[in-house]
Amino acid sequence: MSGQPFKAHAVSLTPPELSGWAASATGVAHVQERSAAASGPEVLVTALVHGNEYSGALALDEFLRSGLRPRCGRITAVFCNTAAFARFDASQPDASRFVDEDFNRVWSPERLDGARQSTELARAREIRPFVERATHLLDLHSMHEPCEPLLVTGLLPRNIAFAQGLGTAGQVIVDAGHADGVRMRDYGPFGEAGGARLALLLEAGQHWASSSLDAARNVLMRFLVASGALARGDVPEGWLLPDVLPPPPITVTDRVVAKSMDFAFVQDFRGGETIPQAGTVIAHDAGEPVVTPYDDCVLVMPSVRQLRLGVTTVRLGRRAG
Ligand SMILES: [Zn+2]
Repeated sequence: MSGQPFKAHAVSLTPPELSGWAASATGVAHVQERSAAASGPEVLVTALVHGNEYSGALALDEFLRSGLRPRCGRITAVFCNTAAFARFDASQPDASRFVDEDFNRVWSPERLDGARQSTELARAREIRPFVERATHLLDLHSMHEPCEPLLVTGLLPRNIAFAQGLGTAGQVIVDAGHADGVRMRDYGPFGEAGGARLALLLEAGQHWASSSLDAARNVLMRFLVASGALARGDVPEGWLLPDVLPPPPITVTDRVVAKSMDFAFVQDFRGGETIPQAGTVIAHDAGEPVVTPYDDCVLVMPSVRQLRLGVTTVRLGRRAG
């Protein structure tokens, strides 16, 4: 299929103005630090890993403008793929995810230390020292389709427990990552079973929905409190959503990958649907049925908006408990 099969979702959020954060004492553009005299957690909050996902950048911009400072340790705020974000065009809002390649697939030593060049590799190489020093990483994303917020933890129990303890309605997704490259949140020590570093990726909701900004603010503040950088009483009025007992985690077991450009779901899945019976057809790919592999299979982030060969169209998972 060619052309533009999708109507873009409404752009309800105005993109942030980030030029004021370009100049940086660190020498790396769009990296801002807020430090306390007392030692403490080394917190890194990243936004715009994908250039069209700016709800997290809005929350981070508000945080920086608020003047909040950590009680101990350091909070580093990074606007990652600013080159892609600079191309954001509300009339083609899906087009500015990246410039050359997905910034969130280059986080292996082989790619970062390799000879290949791209806009995203150059930026990842600049940001790498901040990722390497972080004890706590919160990476703020959003989703192609309208969906309740998700907290993507990777497989390590410490990250799952941290995410469940935040007290948000975000559905914890236990997920090994992508076959086509390593995510920033899985880089190096963040993926070591014996370590203590924490990494969490928020999928706040649809990219340009105002509820995604609410979710990003809420998770950002809860993350800063849970890491010890802020006290709960420091959080400005209106930033936190009510405490919620989170649902049990969903563990991703399978990824459905497009084998053709003729891939379509059998209905307008939004994510979170539980398909009771194994063998239920959920999509067709080049005329072949795509079926659920087991009973009570949960669909996670279904989307064909970025369809190309090899792209993940939906994750399949089991709900704990
Ligand atoms: Zn993203």
